[in-house]
Amino acid sequence: MLDKVKIVLVNTSHTGNIGSAARAMKTMGLSELVLVNPVSPIDGKASALAAGAGDVLAHAQTFDNLQDAISDCGLVIGTSARSRTLSWPMLDSRECGKKIVSESEQYKTALVFGRENSGLSNEELQLCHFHVCIDANPEYSSLNLAAAVQTLCYEVRMAFLEKDKIPSQQSEYPLSEELEGFYVHLEKTLQRTQFIIPNHPGIVMTKLRRLFNRARPESQELNILRGILSSVNKVADEAGRE
Ligand code: SAH
Repeated sequence: MLDKVKIVLVNTSHTGNIGSAARAMKTMGLSELVLVNPVSPIDGKASALAAGAGDVLAHAQTFDNLQDAISDCGLVIGTSARSRTLSWPMLDSRECGKKIVSESEQYKTALVFGRENSGLSNEELQLCHFHVCIDANPEYSSLNLAAAVQTLCYEVRMAFLEKDKIPSQQSEYPLSEELEGFYVHLEKTLQRTQFIIPNHPGIVMTKLRRLFNRARPESQELNILRGILSSVNKVADEAGRE
C-alpha cells in the first residue's frame, strides 16, 4: 500500500533537499519519489544526503508539470505552510496520514510539496483535493522541505501501522486526469454558450473547481455531469453554433 503513495516535489532548488527527502521517505517505508521540473538534476549532493536511500533517488520519475505527475492519482493532497486567500478543504497532518491510508488501497495517492522559497502556486494548489498544514509554531511555521516530507511520511506510516482501525474508502472516485478532462469539457461548453467570454474569463472556473472539489463527485456522478455537457453541446451543434 505504501508503494502507491507518491511524494511529489515541485520545482525544488536544492538537490540536497531531494536527497534528504528520499531518505525521509525510505525510513518510513515509502518509495515513489516524483520530481516536477527540478531546478537541477539529481547530483552527487543529492546522493550523499540520500545515504542508504539511493534506490529511491534512482527510481525517481521526472515530469514537466504537476498535472502530468498526478494524472494517475485518485487523491491528491497539497502542502502549505500558510493560509491562502482561496480557502480549500484543510487537513491536519494526522488526518492527512489517515486519509492517504484509507484511499491508497484503491488507487495511487499523492502528497505534493512546494518550492523552498515560495511553496506551491495557487494554480498548483487548485489541482489538489485537500491541503495539509503541519501545525507548527505559529510564529515560525515554515519547515525545511525535507523536514516537512519527513513529518508527513511519518504520519502516513503511523496511520498505516494502525490501518485495521481505519475504515477504507468505499466510494469510487475519478483519477486526477479524468477530473481535469471534465474541467476542460466544462470550460469549453461554458465558452460555447457564452457564459464564459474567452477574453474575460474571470474567476468562474476557479470557483467551479472549488465547488466540484468540495462535492468530490464519484466516478459515476462525473459521468453524469459529462453526459449533461455532451447534451448541451449537441443542442448547440443543432442550433449551428460554433
Ligand atoms: N516560503 C514558503 C515555504 C516553503 S517551505 C511559503 O511561504 O510557502 C517548502 C515546502 O515545505 C512547502 O512548500 C511545503 O511543501 C513544505 N512545508 C513547510 N512547512 C510546512 C508546514 N508547516 N505545513 C505543511 N507543509 C510545509
